[in-house]
Amino acid sequence: MTFRASILSLYPDMFPGPLGHSLAGRALEQGKWVCEATQIRDFATGKHKNVDDTPAGGGAGMVLRADVLGRAIDHVTGIVDNRPRLLMSPRGKPLTQEQVRLFSAAPGLVIVCGRFEGVDQRVIDGRQLEEVSIGDYILSGGEVAAITLLDAIVRLLPGVMGNDASGVYESFEDNLLEHPHYTKPAEWDGRTIPEVLKSGNHKKVDEWRREQAVELTRARRPDLLDK
Ligand code: SAH
Repeated sequence: MTFRASILSLYPDMFPGPLGHSLAGRALEQGKWVCEATQIRDFATGKHKNVDDTPAGGGAGMVLRADVLGRAIDHVTGIVDNRPRLLMSPRGKPLTQEQVRLFSAAPGLVIVCGRFEGVDQRVIDGRQLEEVSIGDYILSGGEVAAITLLDAIVRLLPGVMGNDASGVYESFEDNLLEHPHYTKPAEWDGRTIPEVLKSGNHKKVDEWRREQAVELTRARRPDLLDK
């Protein structure tokens, strides 16, 4: 099954963007996932093709219109579409690796990228959009958030990561941050590699890595240890 990402945006040319390179780009070329970006403006009507308007009740900024966005979503999803429908939004549930893993098992995603002050609430309610945040800060639009989300998902799709084990020991998989890494040269700038890593004793290496991971997590992200 090919993971199908359908993105709705006022800037569809931003896709696949960075996802056309490296791991995700190779997977895209190999047909392991599909990236389709739709221009929301194509569903605007009238002489000026307006996609946004002033907020009901007054205030600053502009709001994406429900009628225009609703038509765009309906066009993309058709009559049957069992993919989750997301809206990138700072009001959403903050994204976690656990949620990324769940999304990567879906047949794909429909992702709406907001702009301006956001989108009319009626389209969120009427089309059951699940709001997803990538962190507690404000971006200028949902596109970079969608690219971030898709990057995290695509690397988990079957056959995308060369060494499948490398997904298992990464930060967050165990509610732990990852241990430090070292490679050649053996000495750099007067700094050496911890002896245990050169010992060839895999059990000792595993123990050391685990200890380091727990220590790092305790120091930087004690909230993860509580989980
Ligand atoms: N007025 C809104 C912010 C709008 S930012 C508020 O205060 O909640 C414009 C668009 O950028 C949003 O509609 C959303 O699609 C996207 N965006 C901004 N920050 C984001 C974040 N942290 N995570 C996901 N999407 C975000």
